[in-house]
Amino acid sequence: MSTRVLVSVSVLTILFAVAVLGWKQYTEQSAAQWESFAEALTEGVGSDGPETTPVEPTVDVVGATPSTPQLSAPDGAQTPGVSARVNGLVDDAKAALAEGRTGDAVMSLESALAIEPEHPVLMANLAYALYKRSEDLRAELRFDHAEGDLVRAVELAPEQPGYAAHLGNLALRRYRLDEAHDVLAPALELHPDNPDLWLLFADTLTLQGDLPGAIEAYTSAVSFATDKQRDVAQTLLDRARRQWDVEQDYLTDTTSSFVIRSPNDPSSPLWGPQLAGVLERARAEVGNALGTHPQQRATVILYDRETFRDVTGTHDWVGGLFDRKIRLSIRDMPLEDQRDEIESTFRHEYAHFIVSEIAPRCPAVLNEGIAQYVQHGRGVGIARLTNYLDSKGVPRTGIPEISELPDTFMQFTSQDEVSLAYLTSYAFIDHVVTMHGTIGVTGWLRELNGAPLAEAYQRANGRTLEAEERLFREQVRTER
Ligand SMILES: [Zn+2]
Repeated sequence: MSTRVLVSVSVLTILFAVAVLGWKQYTEQSAAQWESFAEALTEGVGSDGPETTPVEPTVDVVGATPSTPQLSAPDGAQTPGVSARVNGLVDDAKAALAEGRTGDAVMSLESALAIEPEHPVLMANLAYALYKRSEDLRAELRFDHAEGDLVRAVELAPEQPGYAAHLGNLALRRYRLDEAHDVLAPALELHPDNPDLWLLFADTLTLQGDLPGAIEAYTSAVSFATDKQRDVAQTLLDRARRQWDVEQDYLTDTTSSFVIRSPNDPSSPLWGPQLAGVLERARAEVGNALGTHPQQRATVILYDRETFRDVTGTHDWVGGLFDRKIRLSIRDMPLEDQRDEIESTFRHEYAHFIVSEIAPRCPAVLNEGIAQYVQHGRGVGIARLTNYLDSKGVPRTGIPEISELPDTFMQFTSQDEVSLAYLTSYAFIDHVVTMHGTIGVTGWLRELNGAPLAEAYQRANGRTLEAEERLFREQVRTER
């Protein structure tokens, strides 16, 4: 069985890691500055990627599974009723998959299917090869192509819920919510007891703002899931309920830039209309810093500290979180006394909003680097990094490679690794701005659509990422 669990880090695992490592004790920076460690907790949505993923191909072209029929048996015997040419193409596909040449496998099976249209075994095999290729494409950030392959896989093999789950997951993580909804709803008609599909559907409804619908879907997920997935579903169900409890009576204040949701209480420090001006100013600063002004309104939801912790499942030193909505934790004190902190946190989260518009699923080095850049400002990135290195007794050469940093920092298990990843990202982005201007960063972001990180960098800045990194490392080494 293929038991590979896909993509994102489990919320529970992360919370566990946070608790064990005692990040709370690490108070070198203010609470708001630590928000950056938290928003990735939700990674856009709550649950893992599909767990019972694709897919044992219905018919195994990769290896010999004795009980399943095969077009081409291991001993080379031919499948009756299919031409030698088709058998040869399937053998080619098998060999290609075994060697990781997923594109070649797809091509061979397309040719076979052209000869034997509607052959169920070929259709199932092609669906599997497309899925494997979509995984490669996704790893290269070629999301449109990955999605195209999965759409085809779903058409070829609708009996496999895993393909729809992966397609829905991909759409969801790119915040294409209507698309995700349109994939998952019909898949659930076909597979009403599949917990992956229910979880993804619930996440989608959550992001679409349909909390009652999400609560229903999470409830279904809980009833069909087992083991750890069941715990995850239960956690998310509880969270959705708490969120609905809090937000169902919220006031919605719509401005030209925002939809602000807050308690309907003008005497509260988190009353939306009072904060609108603060947010507006911070929004303009971010837009100017990045030279880009989104037309779309951002949704901002305001909570007191305790509720924020309840609803997001984060620690109380976390000041903000972006999960397609900007969630801010506001202290119980007059606005004037916390204005700077709110603005700083908001700038960080609003940068994530902009990044998510331009390049959904942007790797963390760029996403968090930009967010910290607009949060803390220009020209101090390398100093912050070297201060940290020196205070920890880490050599200046002991920073991670930019291209080696993972897509999300939440997979790190130690506090030092996470701190270093954030600080390195900030320092590098700050360096790129110094060398190439803001356009060096925003151009990189825009080129990311369909290109890997290093390739996008070179396209935007005319210099290889490798060369830029050498310069950067030299600056870190010699910074005084
Ligand atoms: Zn962040």
